[in-house]
Amino acid sequence: MSTSDSSPYTDVLIVGAGLSGVGAACQLRRDCPEKSVVVLEARDAIGGTWDLFRYPGIRSDSDMFTLGYRFRPWTEAKSIADGPSILNYIHDTAREFDVRRLIRVNHRVASAKWNSAEARWTVEVQRTDTGETVTMRCAFLYVCSGYYRYDEGFSPTFPGVERFSGPVIHPQHWPDRLDYRDKRVVVIGSGATAVTLVPTLASSAAHVTMLQRSPTYVASRPARDPLADRLRARLPQKLAYAIVRWKNTLEGMAIFQLSRRRPDYVKSMLRKAAIAQLPDGYEVDTHFAPSYNPWDQRMCLVPDGDLFTAIREGRASVVTDHVEEFTETGIKLASGAELPADIVVSATGLNMLAIGGMALEVDGRPVDLSKTVSYKGMMLSGVPNFAWTIGYTNASWTLKADLVAQYVCRLLAHMDRHGHATVTPDASRVTAHHPFLDLTSGYVQRSMDLMPKQGDRLPWRLHQNYVRDVALLRRGPIDDDVVFAARSAVPVGPRQQVRQRVG
Ligand SMILES: Cc1cc2nc3c(=O)[nH]c(=O)nc-3n(C[C@H](O)[C@H](O)[C@H](O)COP(=O)(O)OP(=O)(O)OC[C@H]3O[C@@H](n4cnc5c(N)ncnc54)[C@H](O)[C@@H]3O)c2cc1C
Repeated sequence: MSTSDSSPYTDVLIVGAGLSGVGAACQLRRDCPEKSVVVLEARDAIGGTWDLFRYPGIRSDSDMFTLGYRFRPWTEAKSIADGPSILNYIHDTAREFDVRRLIRVNHRVASAKWNSAEARWTVEVQRTDTGETVTMRCAFLYVCSGYYRYDEGFSPTFPGVERFSGPVIHPQHWPDRLDYRDKRVVVIGSGATAVTLVPTLASSAAHVTMLQRSPTYVASRPARDPLADRLRARLPQKLAYAIVRWKNTLEGMAIFQLSRRRPDYVKSMLRKAAIAQLPDGYEVDTHFAPSYNPWDQRMCLVPDGDLFTAIREGRASVVTDHVEEFTETGIKLASGAELPADIVVSATGLNMLAIGGMALEVDGRPVDLSKTVSYKGMMLSGVPNFAWTIGYTNASWTLKADLVAQYVCRLLAHMDRHGHATVTPDASRVTAHHPFLDLTSGYVQRSMDLMPKQGDRLPWRLHQNYVRDVALLRRGPIDDDVVFAARSAVPVGPRQQVRQRVG
């Protein structure tokens, strides 16, 4: 492997400056201040998802007390927050923890090659502003690249789409000045983006139709958290935040567990809640009763029932049918009906992308991600000095991202204390291999073949359970005889010398 000693070196190189990458940099600054850290971001701005998506009404679909960082309270009034407020929160956090200066925008990491003799990654980076290729080296590679492709969203090829006379828009690329006032808009899709867009567009469009192939579970939740409002008035900010964060985490876990154990009960609760918010005689079983069980796919959350309100007021409607073909004036459906439209929004999802599309190599051998096994849901078997943030599918992303960041800090301190230059999860004794994620959603299923596997027991099993992960990642031992299989086979350099820090 060609490495150039003149390439800039950093102890930890973080890929991506979204919610996770910024959080990881803050955590490292706090817990490992002696480590040098650089964050490389492909885009020209930080914030990731919350900077990229600009469609009307963009908002979180989980509460900000759990989507916010554990170490920095969410202080705004709304618990279900709009995209710009979340972006501000990320910027403010980066400023407060003084990590903005560590971030280099317009740097896309294309590949990373590990050299065991040197115990170093050599990372090839493309400058997205100048087109230049630059090389950097690091001891630890920490990937916070999110989970989907930034350049294009998922859009099925609709027959006849070229005939349609109006714009067809993907929410990932929302045009700056799209005038949808008094227009007939059809939103294709039934996921989080569709249920966010429909009520927002319906506030000024002539009418908005949500066209879905099959229904999704939609649950209403207050946009403001009443307990948070009460506690914030009486308690110190940090304490109030911690209490509401735990309350919401446990509440979410309870609903998830109930959905797994008593799906029929949860189905009937959701059905009753939907009926209560929809007009009399509404075909709730056609449009809001999925064939799968609650939480087999991500559940959609609507603040203060805004989607149901738009339907009740006649500003929006739901059609459950299939696109036969586009016509010049709208969409012809499989049932034979026609939906007239001036604008079509294809809220049909994302293309999943593991580790930001980077090519990994270990000692000259390319890493096939699908052959690796995920260790504690954040490292990969056979890949040294590497961590990867993938948030929960059944709870807020940041709950897991924060735990991964804390674990990485503990791991680095442990390595320093014990003189380990290298840490590599060894999955040679793992026999059962399961898919990485257990959601049945299309976007997950489309890419599972390219993702790492998980085993069927600790530490190779993904819990999707915050309380168990706190025990595993925040409190559990670092050295479990799996992760340090390559126990300092590599000479310890000056940067890896023992430092006494809490592990
Ligand atoms: C519309 C939308 C709404 C969502 N709402 C919620 C929600 O309410 N709750 C929730 O828990 N989750 C939600 N999610 C999931 C969401 O992505 C996470 O909550 C969170 O924003 C992920 O943060 P991240 O930093 O890990 O990834 P991202 O936000 O995707 O940021 C990744 C960053 O890495 C950069 N990057 C990628 N590859 C490279 C590379 N090779 N080199 C350099 N940089 C790279 C990207 O440019 C980007 O800036 C939502 C997702 C979407 C799309």
